[in-house]
Amino acid sequence: MLGNPTVRRRTLLAAAAGFAAAPFAAGPAFAANPKVYLDPGHGGTDPGAVANGLQEKALTLNIALQIRNILQANYAVDVRMSRTTDATVSLAQRTSDANAWGATIFVSVHINSGGGTGFESYRYLTSDAATVNLHNALHSRSLSGMRTVGSVTDRGLKTANFHVLRESNMPAVLTENLFIDTLADANLLKRADFLAADALGHANGIAAHLGLTAPPPTFSTIVDNTTAGRFTASANWGTSTFSGQRYGADYRYANPVLASDAAWFKVNIPATANYRVDVWHAADPGYSASAPHIVATSGGNQTVNLDQRTGGGAWRSLGTFNLAAGDRNLVGVSRWTSAAGYVIADAVRVTRV
Ligand SMILES: [Zn+2]
Repeated sequence: MLGNPTVRRRTLLAAAAGFAAAPFAAGPAFAANPKVYLDPGHGGTDPGAVANGLQEKALTLNIALQIRNILQANYAVDVRMSRTTDATVSLAQRTSDANAWGATIFVSVHINSGGGTGFESYRYLTSDAATVNLHNALHSRSLSGMRTVGSVTDRGLKTANFHVLRESNMPAVLTENLFIDTLADANLLKRADFLAADALGHANGIAAHLGLTAPPPTFSTIVDNTTAGRFTASANWGTSTFSGQRYGADYRYANPVLASDAAWFKVNIPATANYRVDVWHAADPGYSASAPHIVATSGGNQTVNLDQRTGGGAWRSLGTFNLAAGDRNLVGVSRWTSAAGYVIADAVRVTRV
């Protein structure tokens, strides 16, 4: 739901400032963060469209705040909003604020009304290539996000002479996220999971346009031989507190035999990816010169032999492996070695790299 006067200033300003030649993607590593301006439509004394127990101003703020949080949590990006509360902000204030801040892009979030269903988005009547790129990236990913939760009609990419599109000096797109006065749409807009998916779609579109890449999610976990439900070994494995190099309260040991009888560390891998696998053991001249460690990788078991006579009391890397998502016995210490000395099983650490 929108309103606006008629001057066409944006293209001239953009041309004067050289924006048409600006790249879409983030610049070199030393460049400042891209600046994303988020504009939740309406607010304060202007509720926007109201129907089915919903107010446009509350929905747009909800979605925009979530977009901001996703962007700030995952990317090197600066985010500014036209409002972060239920405040009254004029259209002119919104664009002058974004222009003064020097925003890289401007994204306005609205909810449609007037009868109809689905999602549509807008850029200005005439646009440079960067604006078209933003529009395409934002439209397709927002729609995909919403469709992970419910059925959403694609009403397409459109152009319009809206104030925030015309008066902003940077690539600007406005999204109309379903119809508040259509019951099926309103029922989706009442769902927290739908708003979250819509916000994630917007964030993905912004990141794609700006060429932002998220750092890999961090994951690290330690499984000790005493961790409940995560360590199994046969009765042939003894328990020892002999060495001060032990991890935690104690560790397990067994004589070498020509049978695996492995002690297993079970790890819940959150996503298929590359992980570094470290083990901790106590070391002693009487321990194994070549203790087989089995790692259950996505490509099958791999065995790494470790000399446990030295290097104890610290994490030792078995290497980096591609591990499939899921909860399984991941690292086994086998007894099957011709080398003399006890094989030791104490603790395993798995870290996403
Ligand atoms: Zn609106």
